[in-house]
Amino acid sequence: IKILALESSCDETSAAIVDNGKVLNNIIATQSVHGNYGGVVPELASRAHQQNIVPVVDQALKNAAIDKTSLSAIAFTRGPGLLGALLVGTSFAKSMALALNIPLIEVNHMQAHILAHFIDDPKPEFPFLCLTVSGGHTQIVLVKSYLDMEIVGETRDDAVGEAFDKSAKLLGLSYPGGPLIDKYAQLGDPHRFALPQTEMPGLEYSFSGIKTGILYFLRDELKKNENFIDENLNDICASIQHTLVEMLLQKLRKAARQFNIKNIALAGGVSANSGLRNGLNQMAEKEDWKVFVPAFEYCTDNAAMIGMAAHYKYLAGEFTTQEVSALPRMKF
Ligand code: ATP
Ligand code: MG
Ligand code: FE
Repeated sequence: IKILALESSCDETSAAIVDNGKVLNNIIATQSVHGNYGGVVPELASRAHQQNIVPVVDQALKNAAIDKTSLSAIAFTRGPGLLGALLVGTSFAKSMALALNIPLIEVNHMQAHILAHFIDDPKPEFPFLCLTVSGGHTQIVLVKSYLDMEIVGETRDDAVGEAFDKSAKLLGLSYPGGPLIDKYAQLGDPHRFALPQTEMPGLEYSFSGIKTGILYFLRDELKKNENFIDENLNDICASIQHTLVEMLLQKLRKAARQFNIKNIALAGGVSANSGLRNGLNQMAEKEDWKVFVPAFEYCTDNAAMIGMAAHYKYLAGEFTTQEVSALPRMKF
């Protein structure tokens, strides 16, 4: 089973070939145009996808030394994501499947982030809990099998990646600021500044309050000392990161105890965060968890994970038709 998979939900145009569940390659064109704007500009993203999609697909086929006529299916991200961006991958996949007369497979981007765990060893055993932390989502997912997953906890407002990026913006750091906060945090004292945490019921998260809290905190400190940020950047970043990681891990522990599950996985771009990885490993020792984190290449947006999800859908006979359209708010 040779699947060509496409990902175009946000600001990465990616194509991958997955052969019998084995990832042969994962070609990613990252869009740099957004750096100047402090966030992804949807219209620029769709234009860049249009420019990148043909070369990226071409490179994936050439690199795997596969002729398009030997493909078994074409897979694409149907949602969630930016409508204009999703449309590029969706239309491209539909046309190619039609031209080659092969099946079409739609993939949910958030499920694919989780199935990235099945690209390399070690692979988690079912059932496991996955904390998916990305630029647009923060979810605790109960994963029962490859295609049977249930969101048991979620953010009510901002995603944690967004909280990282927006805090970074308040500190005058460039976009995406998450990795920069991580970098400075490693040199700072995480207990220097106490930031307000929002208490949420059950397994729910909320990250919009902390952003406002940081805004007021910085405003007050800057009134006293206009060089406050420059002089304390490492400690501020360490304190922000510590607070966000604590919020993530508290609920994860609550979920693990509630469902009595000890296989714990991490997915999405924020799983690169060193504070989160360290905190998770510490908690794992205390709670007797087995922890799984995919390689970084498969944590951020990529087509390999789309191909992996498509592989399991192919085996289950889950195909879609030419009537399919992009779904920006796609649910599980
Ligand atoms: P979604 O999957 O919800 O549609 P997305 O695909 O845009 O969102 P990803 O590409 O998975 O999100 O992750 C990007 C996010 O990860 C950004 O918010 C970025 O700041 C954050 N991020 C990446 N590395 C780090 C790090 N080391 N520390 C904190 N945040 C990080
Ligand atoms: Mg991205
Ligand atoms: Fe993503």
